[in-house]
Amino acid sequence: MNNDTIKQYLEYLKLSGIQDIFINPKKQINKAELLQELEKKYCNCKKCELHTGRHKFVYGNGNADARLMIIGEGPGAEENRLGKVFVGRSGQLLTKMLNAINLSREEIYISNIVKCRPPGNRNPLPEEKKACLPYLDEQISIIQPELILLVGKVAAVTLLEIDQTLKAFRERTYTFRGIKTYVSYHPSALLRNPHWKKFAWIDLQKLQKDYLAL
Ligand code: SF4
Repeated sequence: MNNDTIKQYLEYLKLSGIQDIFINPKKQINKAELLQELEKKYCNCKKCELHTGRHKFVYGNGNADARLMIIGEGPGAEENRLGKVFVGRSGQLLTKMLNAINLSREEIYISNIVKCRPPGNRNPLPEEKKACLPYLDEQISIIQPELILLVGKVAAVTLLEIDQTLKAFRERTYTFRGIKTYVSYHPSALLRNPHWKKFAWIDLQKLQKDYLAL
């Protein structure tokens, strides 16, 4: 964990009302433990209206030391039921897509723009995204991935702050918070439009090339 992340964590403790901390120099801050603590801290969040339909808070899952982070839009019905990201049909497809480029879910970390399910799977509203984004920001700061894959237009428009089609997003890579970032289809869009899978495969192969070169 670098100095910026530690500084950010100390700032977070201060904002939480903790003024004095005892630091054991022999104990390293563990990223997975830190993410678990934060998940517990935020799981009853009521910062936006999405909490009213929440069954389970869906913070994110995967490897806290991941070199690749995948970011989607928000939890669906199955995720809301189980409290885990990408566990429904789109999650199964995502797992298969990752396996096709020799990656496993255990190697990567997956999260979403919003942590509670928008009703009827509608797009999250600007105020909902604004309220929830600090949680994602914090996850990125802690995990410090070397590559990010944004799946779906909502994640791309929100984080890259460019309003264009998904086709246009896919034409190049981006630098988001100093991290090389790809955009591709959301797996649920691929379930609805299976003929797009051939384009997603092109995106995945580019990502795999960069991942292998890390
Ligand atoms: S979507 Fe995010 S900001 Fe809104 S209630 Fe859920 S955790 Fe809080």
